[in-house]
Amino acid sequence: MAFLVPDSTYTAKVGDSSITVKVKITPDGARATKDICSYVKKGDLVKPNAKLNNGTGKPKGITVHNTNNISVASGTNPAEQYARATYPNGNMNGVAVHYWVYKSEIWQQLADNERGWHAADGSSRRSSQRAGETIGGNLDTISIECIETGSDAESEDTTAKLVAYLLNKHGLSPDTDIYTHNYFYSKKYCPAYILPHWKDFLAKCKAYYTAMQGGSSDSGEGGTLYRVQVGAYKKKANAENMLARLKAAGFDGYITSKTEAATAATTPTTTAPQATQTPKKTVDELAREVIAGKWGNGSDRKKRLTDAGYDYSAVQKRVNELLK
Ligand SMILES: [Zn+2]
Repeated sequence: MAFLVPDSTYTAKVGDSSITVKVKITPDGARATKDICSYVKKGDLVKPNAKLNNGTGKPKGITVHNTNNISVASGTNPAEQYARATYPNGNMNGVAVHYWVYKSEIWQQLADNERGWHAADGSSRRSSQRAGETIGGNLDTISIECIETGSDAESEDTTAKLVAYLLNKHGLSPDTDIYTHNYFYSKKYCPAYILPHWKDFLAKCKAYYTAMQGGSSDSGEGGTLYRVQVGAYKKKANAENMLARLKAAGFDGYITSKTEAATAATTPTTTAPQATQTPKKTVDELAREVIAGKWGNGSDRKKRLTDAGYDYSAVQKRVNELLK
């Protein structure tokens, strides 16, 4: 069987570095020419032919796998060979994955918006790493197979860059949206070679992700963080709509809440407080009103004049002069 020839190839910048993806999507409606596995018999579709996330095509996360390195024919590499073994050769036991990564080679076999067969969780969902949400490995995530036997620094590095690129592309977060195969199917210890240093791998993904955002997320000028706000809404649904629009446009964001009273307390008012408004009455006029009994007596008089923004002492001094 001849090596695969990509239908297209693209290079994407990831921080100061880049990735190159060879795209060879398994055709929609492609059918098996032989029995492949228990759920793909001769004549059956070789991939789910369905969109992620209830048909919306919007991925909820990225699932990272490991598969062992293999020896390959001269003139090619394991990423191409795994892709070819999957389709058209039908020798991968019914898996359908999005990306195969080996060293700097990346082959893409499913579109980002379509479902695969890789997580061994069927059509089930479980709780997500995002609070209050659910997620299915097959139903909702993009899969990456990092090809290595033992920890191969270059293959893991390319995988981390691809993860960062996909997080950015789909408005996902490095803090909540990167998954292990193990998360969806606890019986499978996968990605076997990355799991022992999973936290380091996540940190690497996040660093590449941050580099793509155009800077470091944890340093500011003199420790100051400048937050960008695009709106404030009384209905949470409206806030969520705006967030969805931002994410669709490729920006990351999040929702914070603040009560109106708290907002008012920190929002400068445009109207000057009454106490500093220019009094309309002169001291002499006020003194005469005081004498006429319009401002009460004693501490009541003092309070009312002060509250109205007048200088009580000046008024009282004038009153005393007038009454001499
Ligand atoms: Zn796996």
